[in-house]
Amino acid sequence: MAARSAIPARRSRLLAPEPGWTAYADTVVVGSGIAGLTAALAARHAGSVLLVTKAQLSDGSTRWAQGGIAAALGRGDTPEAHLADTLTAGAGLCDEEAVRTLVNGGPTAVRRLIDRGFVFDTEEDGGIALTREGGHHADRILHAGGDATGAEVSRALLARLDQLLDKIEVIERALVLDLLLDAEGRAAGLTLHVMGEGARDGVGAIRSRAVVLATGGLGQVFRSTTNPSVATGDGVALALRAGARVADLEFVQFHPTVLWLGDGARGQQLLISEAVRGEGAFLVDAKGERFMPGMHPMGDLAPRDIVAKGIMRRAMESGLDHLWLDARHFGEDKWRGRFPTIWEALHEHGIDPVRDLIPVAPAAHYASGGVLTDRWGHTSIPGLYACGEAACTGVHGANRLASNSLLEGLVFAERIGRDLARCFAPGEPVTGEPVADEREPVLLAPTVRGATQQAMSAGAGVLRSAASLAGTAAALEELAGHTDDQPRTEAWEATNLHQIASAMAAVAARREETRGSHWREDFPKQDDARWRVRQVLSVDENGCTVTEEAVS
Ligand SMILES: Cc1cc2nc3c(=O)[nH]c(=O)nc-3n(C[C@H](O)[C@H](O)[C@H](O)COP(=O)(O)OP(=O)(O)OC[C@H]3O[C@@H](n4cnc5c(N)ncnc54)[C@H](O)[C@@H]3O)c2cc1C
Repeated sequence: MAARSAIPARRSRLLAPEPGWTAYADTVVVGSGIAGLTAALAARHAGSVLLVTKAQLSDGSTRWAQGGIAAALGRGDTPEAHLADTLTAGAGLCDEEAVRTLVNGGPTAVRRLIDRGFVFDTEEDGGIALTREGGHHADRILHAGGDATGAEVSRALLARLDQLLDKIEVIERALVLDLLLDAEGRAAGLTLHVMGEGARDGVGAIRSRAVVLATGGLGQVFRSTTNPSVATGDGVALALRAGARVADLEFVQFHPTVLWLGDGARGQQLLISEAVRGEGAFLVDAKGERFMPGMHPMGDLAPRDIVAKGIMRRAMESGLDHLWLDARHFGEDKWRGRFPTIWEALHEHGIDPVRDLIPVAPAAHYASGGVLTDRWGHTSIPGLYACGEAACTGVHGANRLASNSLLEGLVFAERIGRDLARCFAPGEPVTGEPVADEREPVLLAPTVRGATQQAMSAGAGVLRSAASLAGTAAALEELAGHTDDQPRTEAWEATNLHQIASAMAAVAARREETRGSHWREDFPKQDDARWRVRQVLSVDENGCTVTEEAVS
């Protein structure tokens, strides 16, 4: 049964001027990462497609992905084994049917990506080279360019898009602001701010029969993250404002091994891929001793939350804020051949991983929650779809298994394309007049971004407690008064970040247990009797409500 309780969260729309221009498309896709590009390629069979993205096409988390894509392609491996590992990582909160869809669809989705031009790393016999990452019990991670999998995904999909520009129109530097709804509550398009030239400059509207949100993650909610600067949770924030159901926001994965550059470091930080540990690197403490084997049977390859907690725990015991990764034994050839991107980046920071230990600490990496969807990408708003990191399909539960997110983007975005082709006949006119939004507009000052990140990292990061979360909530409440009347990108992003942060802090405070990537120091145990439920947020006339729902 669902239990409802109101939590404080701002109910607002953004302060956008009236649209100065209007464009039409059957489907508008927001975002150009693996999910948005895959959705756009698939949706072209269901009519005209307009792809909008807030910076350049290649911006987003996808191009930074290092480790690879998980799929049961190896000899002896099976989707059932992949399912079992995914459910274990998800700590009792995965939607098992959604996971089945993911793992059964994985091999086909990867082959389709290869057909679209993705070039993977091979063994000497020409077979796909597969490696292992934390939480996997088989070698099932396909990779490209050593540690440049995401860059290759992005290159291949953008090259395919380039061949189809007569079918898929693209608008870059277009920040999507809010959803348009018709009188029946269906998605009727969106408003956006284009920093372009000519007829489509400034604030405009796109009218469409379907909207696909593929806006990626929200790592910028925290001070230190592996996510790029565009990862401000815009899609989740605008879906919340439109009344869509959003789930699992408290489950943010902190990647255990992110290059530690000192306390003053801000924004996107360098990830030291899990595959480095998969290839034999190990964590050491201040005395040079290994500690993970004593903490978990899988040692340095335990699931990410366990490793992140292990590092934090050992670092705190030693009065440190970071520990070290030892991969000196790889030697230069292995480093250069297998991890060329990380090798270069470490040298740029003056670290030679053949000679030096690599200083590492956990940083915000992946949002398991997002806009709640079914297995066809439908959200609770008719005509609104979501996929990729912006969505909550239920495959990650309380913690994502390594390399399942690129796969999720591939599998579920493709299914949205199929659903659109089933539901819409190409060429039907776009109907559904958007209704005016009478709500009081609120926009926060750009300075709220940094202050929000500070408040979230201080009290809602890897280590959480009732007291720390209350401190974060109070700081966020105070920041809600810092309004701004200048409609500009920085203010829109700050508003979205603050909205997501407020919702995340509230559901993290409610969940009084430790599960997956949500670690409460004051409730160190997993409490299945009380908390084997998912928290679903929605906004209506009465404010923001959280509903507890059993997982299937
Ligand atoms: C450093 C790093 C390493 C990773 N390694 C792996 C890995 O090895 N394997 C794996 O499976 N996963 C990995 N991940 C996670 C994975 O890369 C992401 O989850 C995945 O790429 C998300 O894809 P996406 O298409 O949903 O979003 P993204 O690739 O982030 O794309 C989001 C898009 O939406 C656009 N956008 C956002 N807001 C707006 C707006 N308001 N208006 C218009 N456009 C907007 C952005 O500009 C961008 O184009 C890694 C992530 C990082 C950061």
